[in-house]
Amino acid sequence: MTQITEVMNEQLFDTTIREDEYRDETSGLIYCKNCRTPRQLKVEFGGEIRYPRTLCHCMQERRERENLSRRAKEFRDRIARNRSVGLADPVLWECTFANDKGYNPKQMAMAKKFVEKWDTVSKGSTGLLLWGDVGTGKTFIAGCIANGLIDKAVPVLMTNFTRLLNRLTDMYSGERNAYIDSLNAYSLLIIDDLGIERNSEP
Ligand SMILES: [Zn+2]
Repeated sequence: MTQITEVMNEQLFDTTIREDEYRDETSGLIYCKNCRTPRQLKVEFGGEIRYPRTLCHCMQERRERENLSRRAKEFRDRIARNRSVGLADPVLWECTFANDKGYNPKQMAMAKKFVEKWDTVSKGSTGLLLWGDVGTGKTFIAGCIANGLIDKAVPVLMTNFTRLLNRLTDMYSGERNAYIDSLNAYSLLIIDDLGIERNSEP
């Protein structure tokens, strides 16, 4: 611990003038050649004048940029993780508003609104039921909603009734409760083909 403190102090009170620095004549402090702002402070500490190191303007800007890009990367990673967990079938990743061919304009407009108004929709626990025959594009529309919300960092699980039932059937009752509880981690649960697919077991 002492060693670490000493190293930090050494860096904090480093008086070596580096290549990109100069000593400002007026203040006597070390300045950055690039942005011409101080890299040293003058502070009184315990009755003693000390000159700790500080970040000049361009170093601060670089640090802020790095923080921003790190947070942006974390956000992208979280979204990618949510997508791969929530949309287990990669085919669904292609179901996006951008990939819409315009076969169901009315329903798509409603799906878009559902995503746009998610804050209100989620508060009211409003659901959306898409029904129609096989091949009418329900999965695509539901997938668009799922991806649209995942892009907004909303955790969504899109699964189908068969998969859900099969998982539950394979479990003991304790596990079943835990699994159902785990579904609460998602803000939206989309069950595709509700009532159409049936477990083939008798
Ligand atoms: Zn600088």
